[in-house]
Amino acid sequence: MEYPLTQMEFEQMFSNEQLCMEYLIGLRWREGYVCMECGNHQYWLLSRRRISCRKCKSQMSITQGTIFEQSNKPLSLWYRTIWLMVSQKSGVSAVSVQNIMGFGSYQTAWTWLHKLRKLTVSPDRERLKGKVEIDETLLGGYKEGKRGRGAEGKNLIAIAVEIFEKGTGRVRLNIIPNAKRSSLKRFIENNIEAGSEIITDGWKSYLGIEGYTHTVVEKESSHGEENLLPNAHRVASLLKRWLLGTHQNYITGNKTQNYLDEFVFRYNRRKSASRGLLFQRVMEQAVNHKPIKYSEIINKNQISGKN
Ligand SMILES: [Zn+2]
Repeated sequence: MEYPLTQMEFEQMFSNEQLCMEYLIGLRWREGYVCMECGNHQYWLLSRRRISCRKCKSQMSITQGTIFEQSNKPLSLWYRTIWLMVSQKSGVSAVSVQNIMGFGSYQTAWTWLHKLRKLTVSPDRERLKGKVEIDETLLGGYKEGKRGRGAEGKNLIAIAVEIFEKGTGRVRLNIIPNAKRSSLKRFIENNIEAGSEIITDGWKSYLGIEGYTHTVVEKESSHGEENLLPNAHRVASLLKRWLLGTHQNYITGNKTQNYLDEFVFRYNRRKSASRGLLFQRVMEQAVNHKPIKYSEIINKNQISGKN
């Protein structure tokens, strides 16, 4: 499927609502539209995002069952917001989206971005493998206070990062309730392929997790903690810089996982040559993901070791 490579191409591809609908149809029916009633391939586009079979005249909404279903806003606005989110190196804040899209309310922009963040996790993504460094960090401070207990109002984040001969591979970030063995074990099993080599510091909760080769790096008196697990530490720093830079740290407790998911999406595709491909990934998820209710964004408690 074709995707835009540049801002210019994006503008041309999605210059009106009809083009946006055609693109959505292409994503929904990869082999071309097929009428559910009669199997015919020819269609008419009607108003209000409806499609009609040319033969039997049966109709359906092309956004039904997608994350666009409940939105009255034009698809072109959604596409532009997705494009903004993926084409900017550091993403985009709700305030920027509100200003650029001309939304009357901040809440609309904020809600859209949270919905889109939920699309950054592919349901069939593969677990990390090979050598994987694991550590935890508190958002709001690096390992201050007693380990294993989250500080008040802070999120404890588990970090896993693949280590290559040169540089790093993919990462995973999850909020965990505490740094006990059960929490870390669940994070590791959910995110790292069995048989991989996990590299951690000497924290007791990591000991005795089965199914992995375990390398413990010990603290050396001459080095600070930062040198112990440099890759995980670097990811933690990048995450915090990103939250501070793009979002002014304006994140609230149970939404944090959404931000982590967006960060992981960006990090794992940092070498991708084309932002357009990222646009297409999010669009594919948008079409395949069931509608997300506002109440799901507001209430969902996402603090768990699950993905
Ligand atoms: Zn038909």
